[in-house]
Amino acid sequence: MEDEAAAHCSRAGCRADAAWSIGWRNPRIHSADRVKLWAACDEHRPFLHDYLETRGFPVVVVPAGTVIDVVPDGSRS
Ligand SMILES: [Zn+2]
Repeated sequence: MEDEAAAHCSRAGCRADAAWSIGWRNPRIHSADRVKLWAACDEHRPFLHDYLETRGFPVVVVPAGTVIDVVPDGSRS
């Protein structure tokens, strides 16, 4: 039985443990209080962040285990 807290990277085909949480939403279909969550390893954090950012989605990246309450507009970093 796998530890529930051990999230794995959201990148397709990657089985690495996630070191980061990526919170994002699509402003066209998600209200401002929605947070979609991806997990990312060190290697794929930039890939997943850029994937969302290039689509114009608000996105925040925090260390795994940190709660993301909201993804504010204009928080792209
Ligand atoms: Zn990965």
